Amino acid sequence: LVDKFSGIFKKLRSKGKLSPQEVESILKELRMVLLESDVHYKVAKDLINRVKERAVGREVLESVTPGEMVIKILWDEIRKCLGGETQNLNISALPSFLLLVGLQGSGKTTTCAKLALRLKRQGHFPLLVSTDTRRPAAKEQLKTLAQNAQIDFFDEPDATSPLEVVKKARVFARQKSNDVVIVDTAGRLHVEEMLLAELRELVEQESFQETLLVLDATTGQEAVKVAKSFEEWVKPTGIILTKVDTDARGGAVLSIVSQTGWPVKLVGTGEKLEQIETFHPDRMASRILGLGDTLTLIEKIEKAIEKESEEKLVQKLKKEEITLNDFLDEIKRLRSVSSFEEIVGMLPGNLRSNLSMVDGEKNLKKVEAIICSMTPQERQNPSIINASRKKRIARGSGTSIQEVNKLLKQFEEFKKLWKQMHKGKFSPLRKRGIFG
Ligand code: GDP
Ligand code: MG
Repeated sequence: LVDKFSGIFKKLRSKGKLSPQEVESILKELRMVLLESDVHYKVAKDLINRVKERAVGREVLESVTPGEMVIKILWDEIRKCLGGETQNLNISALPSFLLLVGLQGSGKTTTCAKLALRLKRQGHFPLLVSTDTRRPAAKEQLKTLAQNAQIDFFDEPDATSPLEVVKKARVFARQKSNDVVIVDTAGRLHVEEMLLAELRELVEQESFQETLLVLDATTGQEAVKVAKSFEEWVKPTGIILTKVDTDARGGAVLSIVSQTGWPVKLVGTGEKLEQIETFHPDRMASRILGLGDTLTLIEKIEKAIEKESEEKLVQKLKKEEITLNDFLDEIKRLRSVSSFEEIVGMLPGNLRSNLSMVDGEKNLKKVEAIICSMTPQERQNPSIINASRKKRIARGSGTSIQEVNKLLKQFEEFKKLWKQMHKGKFSPLRKRGIFG
């Protein structure tokens, strides 16, 4: 089975141990990938050195190429550098107080609301608190977000300092039985002493389970400086990285974590309130290397495919093209290893949006019904499915023409993914010229 993906690399494979020259030449290419991803050159140098130590002299396994082997080691080092494991929020106290700090525009207010909604959906009773005593508009923003998401909101119009607001919020939270209190703070365009002095007073006199520094991912290396300057005033317990959806490169987070030692706990992935996710060092490592989340995905798919006889698989992959029958098989099999949603979440964005509808047991049944209502010819060659055929299929499967259309679109997307897998594990890297 493993041959399926690595067959293409067989030709380039050398035998025996990884030689220093081999490792050197692969790492030279990988160093470029790191720098292109906005990884600071010092961090990149460190990483490369560590990988060199681990890789040289290592036995090359039957099933992988030297290139793959070195990438895996580098991936592993990046993952470790990013903290290794995912880090959860400390909300064990009752109530837990979370303080969000950061520059203006970094996404604090939005993130406060996102976090509250996420916790609410997990069964908590969050309270949102605004402490921007100078800008009424800032309070309004949080208030509106809270109202829309039906989350408790507290503000003290007459208060003159954040400390005063938080003290009153504590009383309020006790009365209302809120178990998590999320405190939004004012931010200025740059690090301002007065504001930071206020913050320091706040963290010195009130206890917070988490002080989270909100950093805008799109500012790249600049975010490291911001983190450093905040450190002199408040000591964050973690980082929330926002706008990762608009940051194509992603490498700056390595500098941030390696220079501060603070774990990234959450990432913001869009403007909508639902768009906040747990930070996964392994997925981020894949992203920095330009693998998308393909590595994790491929591992899952490999596991899934193991169940199938090799022969059948080899046949299938030989043709490179898959039919709607195969599509149905694949969806079912993928679902047996992990939730489809999980797999879809690992796909590059464009594939993700088009495939996500197949999620859910009910939808899977629908997909099955639609495919079963097709003739063998239609399943083999969906391009012959014209309007009247669609009508017939929709009727036969108890669905609508729109649903038939959706399925056909998803199938097209799946074909693209299939082709990518067919070409081998590290095709994104090959595209970057690493494997020629
Ligand atoms: P604050 O000044 O730190 O409170 O920042 P805001 O919460 O007001 O956010 C500033 C801008 O960034 C707003 O337009 C938000 O919609 C946007 N924003 C926040 N988080 C994200 C994110 O994860 N992705 C994207 N694309 N935009 C975000
Ligand atoms: Mg704000």
